[in-house]
Amino acid sequence: MNQILQLLKQNIQDDARIFTEKADLVSYSFDASFGSYMPEYVVQPLTTEEVAAVIKLANTHKVPVYPRGQGTSLSGGPLPVRGGIVLDLSRWTSKLEIDAENMLAIVSPGVTAQAINDAALLHGLIYPPDPSSMNIATIGGNLAENSGGPKGLKYGVTKDYVIGLEVVTPEGNVIRTGGKTMKNVTGYDLTKLIVGSEGTLGVITEAILRLYPKPKATETLMAQFDDIVDAGRAISSILSAGIIPAKLEIMDKASVEAVEAYRPSGLPTNIDALILIELDGHPEAIKDEIKRVNDVCIKENARAVQIAQSKEEAAQLWQARKLVSPAIVRLKPTKISEDATVPRSKIPEMFQRLKEIREKYNVDLVVFGHAGDGNLHPNIIADERDAEEMRRVEKAVEEIFRTAIELGGTLSGEHGIGTLKAPFMEMELGAVGVDMMKRIKQAWDPNDILNPGKIFPEPNQRFVLTND
Ligand SMILES: Cc1cc2nc3c(=O)[nH]c(=O)nc-3n(C[C@H](O)[C@H](O)[C@H](O)COP(=O)(O)OP(=O)(O)OC[C@H]3O[C@@H](n4cnc5c(N)ncnc54)[C@H](O)[C@@H]3O)c2cc1C
Repeated sequence: MNQILQLLKQNIQDDARIFTEKADLVSYSFDASFGSYMPEYVVQPLTTEEVAAVIKLANTHKVPVYPRGQGTSLSGGPLPVRGGIVLDLSRWTSKLEIDAENMLAIVSPGVTAQAINDAALLHGLIYPPDPSSMNIATIGGNLAENSGGPKGLKYGVTKDYVIGLEVVTPEGNVIRTGGKTMKNVTGYDLTKLIVGSEGTLGVITEAILRLYPKPKATETLMAQFDDIVDAGRAISSILSAGIIPAKLEIMDKASVEAVEAYRPSGLPTNIDALILIELDGHPEAIKDEIKRVNDVCIKENARAVQIAQSKEEAAQLWQARKLVSPAIVRLKPTKISEDATVPRSKIPEMFQRLKEIREKYNVDLVVFGHAGDGNLHPNIIADERDAEEMRRVEKAVEEIFRTAIELGGTLSGEHGIGTLKAPFMEMELGAVGVDMMKRIKQAWDPNDILNPGKIFPEPNQRFVLTND
C-alpha cells in the first residue's frame, strides 16, 4: 500500500469512506461543465478533524486536494486537474440547526439550500438564496461559488446570508471567521474572502447563515412581448419605478418553444419573449405594485399581461421557467450555460448584442435567466461531436464574455471561474488585479495544494469546450 493511502487510512475512521478503485474514481472525474480528470484518491470526511488531517498530510506530502460538493459546478470548480485527492463533502449532512431566536441556521457543508429553507419554514422563516440546483447542490458548493438564483434580485445571493464560517486552511489548521452577531468588524472580513473563493483558500466545514421572515403574501404576473428588446426595456423601467420584485425572470421565444414541446403548459409560443415576475411582501402593497408593473409593461409594448389567479396557476408558470434547462437539451445534447452579467441599465443592449452574436456565428442561442439583476443565461445548444460547430460555439461564447465586459459587466454572475473562464480573468480584472488575487492565494496556500489550476489561467491556457 502506498504511503498516502496508508496515511489516509490512519486518519479517516472508516475505510469505506476512502476510494481508490477506478470505477469509483470515474464518478469524481467530471462536473456539470467540460473536461475530465481522474483523481488518485477520494475521501468522504464527516468531521472537521478528518478534513484537517487530510489537508495536513496533503500539505506535508505536496499532494493536491480538491473540495467537492455534488459536482454540479458549471465552470470546472471541483475537477481534479492535477490528480491527487478529491474531498467529497456531500455526505456530511449531520448538522442543520435552526436558531429561530437569532434567525440563524448553523449547518454542515453537505446540507442543501433546499433543506435549510424547508427547516427554516417550520419556524416561519426562509433562507432566500435559491439557485436552480438548490435541491441537489451542497451549501459548501453554494458558499464556495457564491451562488445565486431568481430571488437574488430582491434578497441578494449566498454571500449576503453568511455571517460565520469554520474553515480548514490549506495548511490543515482550523479557523473560525465571523460568528453569530449581525455586525462584526474585527479585522479583515475573512468570511467574505472565503465565500466565492471556489475552494482555493480553505475547506468550509460549517456555516452560520442568516434567515429572513417569510413574506406574508406573493403574487405572480407574466408579460408577453413581440420584441425581446422591449422586454429588456420593461425590466429596466419596472426597477427604475422603484419596484423590487422577489423574482424577475425572462424566457426568449426559443426557450418558450422548447418548454412547450417538452411539457406543454399553455405558454404562448407566437411571441419573442416573456417575463415572469413575482412580488412579495404585505398583501396591500403587492396589490398596488401589481397594477404599477402591469402599467409599465403595457407602456413598454407588452402584447398582454396575465396575473396568476391562484397559487396553482403561479406554480405552473414558475414550473415552466424551471423546465427550460431540461427542455432545451432535447434540441441538441450539449448545453453551454453562460452567466455573463451586465448592469441593469444595459439589459436591452445586451439582448440586442446577443441577437447579433446568434446570427454572426450561426449558433442555437437560447436566452433566459435572472434578467432582473442583469444576470442573463445565454445558453448555446450544440452537439459536441460536431467539431466545426463547437469551434463556432467557442467563438460565440468568447464574444458573449467580451460584450458583457464592454458593457460594464462581468464574466460570471454566479457560476464562478473554475477552469473554464480562467483564460478571461485578465480581460476583466487587468494584470494587476489578477496579480493581487494570486498574492492572496500564495499567502494562504504556499504549496498550492488546495484546488490548484482554478481561477488563475495556466500559461497559454485557451478557452475550450471539449471533454478530451
Ligand atoms: C441544472 C443546474 C442548475 C444550476 N443553477 C444554478 C443557479 O441557479 N445559480 C447558481 O449560482 N448556480 C447554479 N448551478 C451551478 C451549481 O449548482 C452551483 O455552483 C453550486 O453551488 C455548486 O454546488 P456543488 O455542491 O455541486 O459544488 P461542486 O460543483 O462540487 O463544487 C463547486 C465549487 O465549490 C468548491 N467546494 C465545494 N464544497 C466546498 C467546501 N465545503 N469548502 C470549500 N470549497 C468547496 C469546489 O472545490 C468547487 O470549486 C447550476 C448547476 C446545474 C447543473
